[in-house]
Amino acid sequence: MSVDAVYLAMDVEPRMLAQAVRGFRALNILGFNVTIPHKIKIMKYLDSLDRTATTIGAVNTVVNRDGRLFGYNTDGTGALEALRKSGLDPKGKRIVLIGAGGAARAIAFTLAEIAQRMVIVNRTISKARMLAREVQKTTQSPVIYRGLNSSILKDELLTSDLLVNATSIGMNPRVSETPIDTSLLRTDLDVFDIVYSPVETTLLKETMKVGAKSVNGLTMLVNQGAQSFELWTGLKAPTFTMTAALNNALKVSSR
Ligand code: NAP
Repeated sequence: MSVDAVYLAMDVEPRMLAQAVRGFRALNILGFNVTIPHKIKIMKYLDSLDRTATTIGAVNTVVNRDGRLFGYNTDGTGALEALRKSGLDPKGKRIVLIGAGGAARAIAFTLAEIAQRMVIVNRTISKARMLAREVQKTTQSPVIYRGLNSSILKDELLTSDLLVNATSIGMNPRVSETPIDTSLLRTDLDVFDIVYSPVETTLLKETMKVGAKSVNGLTMLVNQGAQSFELWTGLKAPTFTMTAALNNALKVSSR
């Protein structure tokens, strides 16, 4: 794309985060992504935060504009874009979101704003409660919480249109695991699994078998990255090329 830039991975020790940010400022780099475990701590070293990052309480993208560092969060909007591009607009849908960790948090705030209602289900119920309360307060949308067990899931899924797995269940190497009993899947229950390694989880394979629509985690990963790229460069991201590169990288890493 004739952008004179490189994208590099750097492993920053938690105790060195402040110095790393000072270094980025000194080098006047265009921007950077932030991942576990720095997404929350980074916020105090930035000059400004956008509304979404403030609401979610975490930053995954930083843009350097004339020496001032601006924090954004593209995880939730990347997930939303992934759903929309795959023909699964969550607007007006009844959503069951499994998980209450970092990724679930970004997705919950973003989707609750446009959903008809959301149920947050998590193994540790106190985390589901905390997240549901925060999301409901911020978005003014109806959000309830439940513990992760099969009879609760059976009831909630019966009256839902979209299931989102935002846990690490089904991720390599425990690929045979699924967050729900797959007999609960049905043609009119769309499924979004944010796990991207493997790209086709057992949950997604079973979803396809019953003929329901599905979206994989790679689509979200590409779209959150694409939005970072657009924030840094102002150019439309080459999502097709990015998807191909990611697919190759995942194949190499799973060998
Ligand atoms: P996290 O903050 O550590 O949260 C993990 C979540 O998974 C928690 O809700 C946890 O429940 C639940 N969980 C883990 N193991 C479980 C089990 N055996 N049974 C029931 N629940 C279990 O992690 P995260 O950053 O949110 O990431 C979650 C997954 O999303 C990972 O697979 C990650 O690779 C993927 N991810 C994908 C994208 C993408 O772009 N596609 C982006 C970010 C993350 P408890 O609260 O009870 O522990």
